[in-house]
Amino acid sequence: MNVKESLKSLPSLESILGDTACASAIKIYGRERVRDTLRSVLDTFRKAALAGEANGSDAKKNSTYWIGIATALLEKTLEPNLRKVVNCSGIIVHTNIGRSTLAEEAANAAYLSATSNVNIEYRLAAGERGDRDEALEGLITQLTGAEAATVVNNNAAAILLALNALSDQMETIVSRGELIEIGGSFRLPEIMKKSGCRLKEVGATNRTHMRDYEEAVNENTALILRAHTSNYKIIGFTSQPTLKELSTFAKSKGLPMMVDLGSGAIIDLAPFGIKDEPTIRETLENDADIVTVSCDKLLGGPQAGIIAGRKELIQRIRKNNLKRALRCDKMTLSALEATLRLYLNPEKALREIPTLRHLSRSMDSVRNIAMTVSLSLKEWFGDEATVSVIDDVCLAGAGSAPEIDIPSISIAITHRKLSPNKLAEMFRELNPPIIGRVDDDLFRLDMRCIDKPSEVSDSLT
Ligand SMILES: *Cc1c(COP(=O)(O)O)cnc(C)c1O
Repeated sequence: MNVKESLKSLPSLESILGDTACASAIKIYGRERVRDTLRSVLDTFRKAALAGEANGSDAKKNSTYWIGIATALLEKTLEPNLRKVVNCSGIIVHTNIGRSTLAEEAANAAYLSATSNVNIEYRLAAGERGDRDEALEGLITQLTGAEAATVVNNNAAAILLALNALSDQMETIVSRGELIEIGGSFRLPEIMKKSGCRLKEVGATNRTHMRDYEEAVNENTALILRAHTSNYKIIGFTSQPTLKELSTFAKSKGLPMMVDLGSGAIIDLAPFGIKDEPTIRETLENDADIVTVSCDKLLGGPQAGIIAGRKELIQRIRKNNLKRALRCDKMTLSALEATLRLYLNPEKALREIPTLRHLSRSMDSVRNIAMTVSLSLKEWFGDEATVSVIDDVCLAGAGSAPEIDIPSISIAITHRKLSPNKLAEMFRELNPPIIGRVDDDLFRLDMRCIDKPSEVSDSLT
């Protein structure tokens, strides 16, 4: 029998759709998608069979067979594109894999907010409209010593909003040594331009003096800005006024002093090797009037940006109509509130906020995890690879403390057949994917961010 003859026994689309076996697929995916998928499966088969690229006698298969093929295709469409990944990258706060993970209390708060209504702009006692900032402002001022605070989507939004509110059509003075770019898409000069303010660069890349600022001030000056150069360091023949000197000068000219602090620590992280990240409190104590920070870097919360500082300036910022475009949703605000609440007890914050826990944990604890995980990996690879536990270093990441190596422990794997880069690829194909790194021609899984051995071994099935 030729192919054309045998294709006559191929069940019709309508008969397959009418088959009881199709009912459950229709319930999950909807009639239209099941029909479209089945039609495309049958068309593909018909074409392939006629071209001699498929077995024509498959046409005799019953409806269940075709439904099976269609369902397998449809199942794939249910898989999310955003997937959990395991951070063995050696970068604690990694922007490309979502920066900080939330403390359990913060995640629960976000969940509650996601699944219920919350009094986000509603004063329960009075039964009247409130402001989105009310839930968090008290916590922020308590933790940082600021007079007032407002919250937006991220630090980039915080800077954009603050500059527009305080320096629209006016000049903002910045040192040439601080015109930062962060992760490609954030460039301070460009954000400044979009905010409507005019950038007045002063000094040279490596040296800026007090007199450079003095000479730059004129009747169009509205603001002095310092950006924390968090992802690079200018070393050697360098000089810049201290923040205190700069803010004293700003005050003498009646200008507000704004600091883009980047990572924005709430507690001192120097004991964990992060020496160059001033806290928000310290920055305000050096007379900054406005400080902006990211909430998902070393602070360890959800993606958001805090603007903290003098009450009168925060009020101007809050009234600016860009605020509405940059405001946070209820899930973010709930997660941030819960994260900040943990800081009321700094020991609890260090224990329960994953970013702080990973940063501050002892080498013994990292080594213990590495030992256990290495056993699972040895068993998994058999004699195909050598698995060893090695001393390593990792980075804080997200632009914080760029030159500081944080001691860590990695599992190094050398495969008999696969190159280090192929090994890295193979680990990215696991479920959930494990993100390692190749350094010095050696594939490594850094263990500083692994709390439980199962976080790695769950992928080894
Ligand atoms: C990270 C960073 C930013 C951008 O913050 P986002 O929260 O990513 O918007 C701006 N300035 C500095 C100094 C930073 O470190």
